[in-house]
Amino acid sequence: MTFKATILTLYPDMFPGPLGHSLSGRALDKGLWQLETSQIRDFAMDKHRSVDDTPAGGGAGMVLRADILARAIDAAAPAEDPRPRLLMSPRGAPFTQDRAHELAEGPGAVIVCGRFEGVDQRVIDARGLEEVSVGDYILSGGEIGALTMLDAVVRLIPGVMGNMDSAETESFEGGLLEHPQYTRPAEFEGLTIPEVLTSGNHRKIHEWRMAEAERLTRERRPDLWDAYMADEDDVD
Ligand code: SAH
Repeated sequence: MTFKATILTLYPDMFPGPLGHSLSGRALDKGLWQLETSQIRDFAMDKHRSVDDTPAGGGAGMVLRADILARAIDAAAPAEDPRPRLLMSPRGAPFTQDRAHELAEGPGAVIVCGRFEGVDQRVIDARGLEEVSVGDYILSGGEIGALTMLDAVVRLIPGVMGNMDSAETESFEGGLLEHPQYTRPAEFEGLTIPEVLTSGNHRKIHEWRMAEAERLTRERRPDLWDAYMADEDDVD
């Protein structure tokens, strides 16, 4: 079964966008994953094809209507569709590398991109939409969030990345940020490469990388560091 993403959006032209290039684009061409979009506006019911209305209770902006979005969701994914139904939302659970792995192992995802002030709560409840956030800031729509999330997922689909080793030491994979990387030239503006990396001593290189990963995580992400240390304690 191939991973299939269905995106519900008012801007289908934004897809595949950046995902049509490089690693994810080649994988899409090879059929390692599939992408389809659905224009929410096609499910509007009036002659102006309107999809939004003013918020109940007053206030600024517009809200995506529950009935129209529900029709779009039902057309894209009938009740028996096993794929998770996600709603891009700043109120959602923060998207993580663990969630990316989970999604990459599954059949795909139906992803609803909000716009305006967001979507009517009743469609979230009635269609069991799982709210997912890409960070603590407000985007103007869910599309760039969906692209971000899919980019993280697609590279983990088996066969997409040539060298799976490079995925394993990546930041977040072992609970740590990645160690610093170096390549040629041996000297750049008077700066050299740490000697151990050119020593050919693989045990020493591993130790250095591990120590650097721990140092960076401790300094930059105390939240990750605490979780990592708690995990280590569990192992003992
Ligand atoms: N009024 C809402 C924000 C609406 S932003 C609030 O304060 O919570 C418009 C749309 O952009 C949202 O419906 C959502 O789909 C998307 N969006 C904005 N920020 C996002 C984020 N951090 N993560 C995921 N989606 C986001």
